[in-house]
Amino acid sequence: MTPQRLAVVKVLANSEEHLSAEKIYERVKPHFPFTSLATIYKTVTLLKKMGEIMELGFVDDSNRYDGIRPYPHPHLICLKCKKIIDPDIPALSELPQEVAQKTGYRIMNHRLDFFGICPSCQKRK
Ligand SMILES: [Zn+2]
Ligand SMILES: [Zn+2]
Repeated sequence: MTPQRLAVVKVLANSEEHLSAEKIYERVKPHFPFTSLATIYKTVTLLKKMGEIMELGFVDDSNRYDGIRPYPHPHLICLKCKKIIDPDIPALSELPQEVAQKTGYRIMNHRLDFFGICPSCQKRK
């Protein structure tokens, strides 16, 4: 793994924020001044294929990346500040298994997003 690729992995592994490629770029650039946003895009695509990170795609927004939990899991998304967190709710984590049991499907992937206004944005109105 190239040092630059490792830097992207580290940035994502140390952040609970689910960063966009632009944000990753901002954090990697001080250490790798010659890197470009295009390189970051290529790197995240590669890391995604390698299973090192998970991509959260959005229709009207830039994609975000999770390097802490590179597998499908529920997300809580603030519509105002665009913050994305991983809710720690056991019943949600058990849901895919329950769906598999009840339907007979072998679940390969799932997407579980909750959209709302986070507590700090509620205070800010
Ligand atoms: Zn918010
Ligand atoms: Zn996540």
